[in-house]
Amino acid sequence: MTQSNSEYKKDSKLITAHYAENYEHYYNAIVPPIFMNSLNVFEHIDAYYDCDTKDINTYVYGRVQNPTVRIVEEKIAALEHGAKAALFASGMAATTTAILSTCKMGSNVVCLRNAYGPVKTFLDNYCVKHMGMTVTYVKGDLLEEYEQAVTDKTDLIMLESPSSVVFSLQDIRGVVKIAHQHGAKTIIDNTFCTPIYQQPLDMGVDLVMHTLSKYMGGHSDLIGGVLASKDEDLMNYMLDQRELIGGIIGPVEAWLVLRGLRSLEVRVAQHNQTALKVAKYLENHPKVKRVYYPGLKSHPQYELMKTQQTGNTGLLSFEINGTVEQAKAVVNNLSIFKIGVSWGGFESLACMPQLRLDEKTCNWLGAGQGIIRLHCGLEGAENLIADLASALEKI
Ligand SMILES: *Cc1c(COP(=O)(O)O)cnc(C)c1O
Repeated sequence: MTQSNSEYKKDSKLITAHYAENYEHYYNAIVPPIFMNSLNVFEHIDAYYDCDTKDINTYVYGRVQNPTVRIVEEKIAALEHGAKAALFASGMAATTTAILSTCKMGSNVVCLRNAYGPVKTFLDNYCVKHMGMTVTYVKGDLLEEYEQAVTDKTDLIMLESPSSVVFSLQDIRGVVKIAHQHGAKTIIDNTFCTPIYQQPLDMGVDLVMHTLSKYMGGHSDLIGGVLASKDEDLMNYMLDQRELIGGIIGPVEAWLVLRGLRSLEVRVAQHNQTALKVAKYLENHPKVKRVYYPGLKSHPQYELMKTQQTGNTGLLSFEINGTVEQAKAVVNNLSIFKIGVSWGGFESLACMPQLRLDEKTCNWLGAGQGIIRLHCGLEGAENLIADLASALEKI
């Protein structure tokens, strides 16, 4: 199959269907097996000591590499136009390995204010506390802010565009330029767009991170993460660090990601269509104050969105014209939308990510305690709109 692998490399549909699958290695089964082994054996002791664990056909120990894991890594590297990818046991394992491997004692990190909460907690409670690092948070919509934030101590700039509660964007190409002028690396959380709708490595970003627990898995039945880069040396270093920190994904989860990737493109297209219909419905509803969705023309960064994304997916937020108690009632009145965190699966979900935050923190993040986040699943736009209509009707 290797001769066709290079032909597949540019086409996301062929990548998810066939790329990096060497059927002859597993009895021509159309779906690769779950390699459920912790170790591999060798014919001679020298063969063991002389092997190159970065070689595509060499496996030694399950904390280092696994054939099922490797197939998914090759697919995601190809989808992201990277040289290599590394799978992790969670999105957080991927992010923390990237931070620990690009920063050192005394490093400064410039991070988006609206970045995923636990990432900020890790920076504040681990990197600052245990490694003497500093963190500078930026709102992220003006490049001047990055110019001012970056110092000669900055080793990493952390982006999440769009962010996943208020859907703010960063000018990715602009931030990359500033970072590289100062010798800092950039990492972006690309979970919302997936590689189908945004290719940050082509815009110069050093590392792309995803939680596989969302769209890449797509069925709400696994936790996983991934890093990818065009820089092969950097990725080999990440693989070495993964081996030491110990955060490789398990083979079952990797196999579930493989299953999820098969339908990634058709799923995100459907999520996109549904979320846009829901966002437009909410935007025209008299009880709704504001809708946050980058696919809406009213999004303040819609023009920037079109220069760096080719689509949006199923997540959006809105605020009602009313009290926090009324917002809670809307969420409690929903029936198809279940109440829960996470997103990216087949099911629609609602949550209130800022409900327990104080007013000062809410202002800092740019939205109130009453903000409602929806994940539009695959149950059909008409059904979801009817569910929202009835929940809003009751307040
Ligand atoms: C869920 C999430 C993560 C964390 O991923 P885990 O797999 O749960 O560790 C990171 N970033 C974003 C935007 C997320 O939504």
